[in-house]
Amino acid sequence: MIKIAYSPIYKYQLPEGHRFPMAKYELLPEQLLYEGTVTEEQFFPPERLSEEVLLWTHTKAYWQKLQEQKLNRKEERAIGFPMRLDLIERGRYISQGTIQCAQYARRNGVALNIAGGTHHAFADRGEGFCVFNDFAIAANYLLKRKEAERILIVDLDVHQGNGTASIFKDEPRVFTFSMHGERNYPLRKEHSDLDIGLPDKTGGEVYLQKLEAILPLLLKQHQPDMVFYLAGVDVLATDRLGRLSLSVQACKQRDQYVFETCRAFKLPVAVSMGGGYSQRIAHIIEAHANTYRAASDVFG
Ligand SMILES: [Zn+2]
Repeated sequence: MIKIAYSPIYKYQLPEGHRFPMAKYELLPEQLLYEGTVTEEQFFPPERLSEEVLLWTHTKAYWQKLQEQKLNRKEERAIGFPMRLDLIERGRYISQGTIQCAQYARRNGVALNIAGGTHHAFADRGEGFCVFNDFAIAANYLLKRKEAERILIVDLDVHQGNGTASIFKDEPRVFTFSMHGERNYPLRKEHSDLDIGLPDKTGGEVYLQKLEAILPLLLKQHQPDMVFYLAGVDVLATDRLGRLSLSVQACKQRDQYVFETCRAFKLPVAVSMGGGYSQRIAHIIEAHANTYRAASDVFG
């Protein structure tokens, strides 16, 4: 059975008019259940990430600053959410959800987290709506516990996975691959093991060609035993931030292709949600739901 991490704590209370579409964390499970793509028993509430595991990825200084709510205004603005203790709690549950998804994926082929993909969090700071880096936390957990030996991170959010790239720059067991809009945030990119920066308005055809040319090669060359997939839907043409102009259909083909390829290589894949900033929330939900539909098609 395909397992899905979800907790009501994922939806963080934001002030009216905030530009982050927080409602998606509630609407996506609703939609998936309503249409019958998933059933109640597939959902599991993640546990709370321990401080010990958190500190395998993030610095003690950053962790203390968060706990004591001592971020300065600039640091808080970089994260983009109002800082309260429940934001820290939320991040702990989301990150643990990704760890548990990785473990479920090893049993069932795939598992998905209805949040996460917080790839802009560095070891010592957060930015871009990211407090903790869930992929980094989960990857470090698996390596430390010897539940995986070589990991591939496939980051197809429209924004570069700068935090992830930075955290793993000296870790040969984790290969970081980011395909993103070259002119999208962050302005100053980090070096992933492989970066493909695409021009504005790339569109689905070229996008999928690039992906199909590279993903099987990476799997052959790096030989991972675990894949993390960041399935951001800010690649859509309707997205207010993204610049790549994919149709909803192309975005679904992307997800489908990643799943089929991982399955063909018999590799477990843990999925986190990532960004999505279309004007209409229906577009966001439809594209995120497609990730789940594709996972069910391929692994169901
Ligand atoms: Zn993004």
